[in-house]
Amino acid sequence: MNMSRTRDTRERLVVIGGDAAGMSAASQARRMRDPDELEIVAFERGHFTSYSACGIPYWVGGDVAGPDQLIARTPEEHRERGIGLRMRTEVTEIDVERQRVRARDLDSGTETWTSYDKLVIATGARPIRPDMPGADAPGVHGVQTLDDGQALIDTLAHARGRRAVVVGAGYIGVEMAEALINRGYEVTVVNRGSEPMSTLDPDMGRLVHEAMEGLGITMVNDTEVTKVLTGEDGRVRAVATQDAEYPADVVVLGIGVRPETALARAAGLPLGSHGGLLTDLAMRVRGHENIWAGGDCVEVLDLVSGQERHIALGTHANKHGQVIGTGVGGGYATFPGVVGTAVSKVCDLEIARTGLREKDARRVGLQFVSVTIESTSRAGYYPGASPMTVKMLAERRTGRLLGVQIVGREGAGKRVDIAAVALTAGMTVERMTALDLGYAPPFSPVWDPVLVAARKAVAKVRGS
Ligand SMILES: Cc1cc2nc3c(=O)[nH]c(=O)nc-3n(C[C@H](O)[C@H](O)[C@H](O)COP(=O)(O)OP(=O)(O)OC[C@H]3O[C@@H](n4cnc5c(N)ncnc54)[C@H](O)[C@@H]3O)c2cc1C
Repeated sequence: MNMSRTRDTRERLVVIGGDAAGMSAASQARRMRDPDELEIVAFERGHFTSYSACGIPYWVGGDVAGPDQLIARTPEEHRERGIGLRMRTEVTEIDVERQRVRARDLDSGTETWTSYDKLVIATGARPIRPDMPGADAPGVHGVQTLDDGQALIDTLAHARGRRAVVVGAGYIGVEMAEALINRGYEVTVVNRGSEPMSTLDPDMGRLVHEAMEGLGITMVNDTEVTKVLTGEDGRVRAVATQDAEYPADVVVLGIGVRPETALARAAGLPLGSHGGLLTDLAMRVRGHENIWAGGDCVEVLDLVSGQERHIALGTHANKHGQVIGTGVGGGYATFPGVVGTAVSKVCDLEIARTGLREKDARRVGLQFVSVTIESTSRAGYYPGASPMTVKMLAERRTGRLLGVQIVGREGAGKRVDIAAVALTAGMTVERMTALDLGYAPPFSPVWDPVLVAARKAVAKVRGS
């Protein structure tokens, strides 16, 4: 059936994807253009809109009740604001030439074509499923969507035993391992890298490893999972590596994501070397005036290395949506790029990074100095002061800040924002030493740990 547009004078915006990037774009476009000028139709194949996947580990771990608490805006709330939402409806084709999309209602199976004047692609990312026997067995879970979170919680409620294996030790694997410990599981994390949190250099990842072991998590690094073994009932019973088997009543996969761009690829839209859509600074798909893309399905410019990267973070997706909605609505906004800032935690250990790791700097041919300092979160004499480790990279000769990693307890994580601002401003480490940061004994030593690292980096740059 061809559901062609009702021929009124309004423009039609079609949005594919009903979460952070898509619904931010739709909402911003709605704020800028009235329904009698712009009709907005958004397709979402799942059951939820505007949800926080970021909250899934805390929901599974019992810190938040969820899933209702993780939903910022329901489909009904969007509809009340004048956004036509088609839930449980998957877009299966984009016809760029005829400016229309084909969509399938997942409950009835009916297919319809909807034409557009403007299109927003916000299809997010797809979790990597390992290509190995048993990967799809009951009891093996991803945690990409609220539906995934609910399925995992259901499995945990009925699991035969209390042994969990988490595959992958990126921030999602680390957060999920802690969540499972909080639910009383015995947790083993099997990780391909030499240390958890490969977004950090391994020396900083080591600190995370120690904290995880301190929580009672068994860490198995430098190891690949080769198979998921199932019992007679077909459910997962263990995870196998080349040298060992780890018994499991539940397995959680956290081995990363790829941009969900199959539709875009089939439509002939431009993709980068990481598989993400390529856009200009206004988030328009390159070479296509009336198509925008944002969130986990695009590549972003790394302002420090000057290279395109794929970084799947909600903080970017929301900003992309805002920029897209402004452009669709006839305004002007740009997303200049990222410096690679991220923050996470395991128990009370806060983990933060921004900019380049040593291997990133080497890969793009930058010569650098690297320093690591130990300091404290508060003045040493003030109650509650706890240790904090800061690693800083600066370019040789110029002293330009290249990256910062921070691991420590209360107050460590968000300190990375100082470095994110310095990186964005293109500061040298010398300029950073004079930053006018707030000080009082309950908040930091008189020399903030970031400034201590900057001073040490200055000395090393001069020595180099
Ligand atoms: C467990 C977990 C923890 C996280 N923690 C953090 C964090 O602490 N900080 C942070 O910044 N980020 C975090 N993230 C990442 C963040 O959730 C994502 O970056 C963000 O959701 C991306 O938004 P998006 O709109 O681009 O994509 P998504 O949120 O993936 O939304 C895309 C939507 O499009 C729909 N869709 C896809 N294809 C189609 C189609 N063909 N037709 C119809 N609908 C379609 C999907 O169903 C989905 O709802 C976390 C993610 C996870 C999974």
